[in-house]
Amino acid sequence: MTRTDTPAALDRLLAAVPARYRFQARALLTDPRQGGRGLRAWLAILETDDRPIPDELPEELVGVYLSDDDAEPLYDCECCGLPIPVRAARRCGHEAAVEREYFPACPCCGGRTGRHAYWSRPAAASN
Ligand SMILES: [Zn+2]
Repeated sequence: MTRTDTPAALDRLLAAVPARYRFQARALLTDPRQGGRGLRAWLAILETDDRPIPDELPEELVGVYLSDDDAEPLYDCECCGLPIPVRAARRCGHEAAVEREYFPACPCCGGRTGRHAYWSRPAAASN
């Protein structure tokens, strides 16, 4: 069982959420009955990977999590490592299929996005 009640990661994530979405994001993150599966998955990534997070997240990126209950951070940006939400189809097996790509290019830096893109980017091998 994983629990996502680490205050440090929660605070880091919420601090980067644009102010007008912060109240709603906090409600989703702290009350599982309200949904917010994707946001909690993102929080889990922050806790386990210690991934960089921009000072201010793009509004459209946070908006996807707030408007789509099936959005999950299955992609990431190959340049900045930002977890990117996609709409996940019902799981068959241990990896969810992607039903809809919201951001083919990272809304933060314009980098390419994809499954495990950050970890498989060429720069990681040549540096
Ligand atoms: Zn990026």
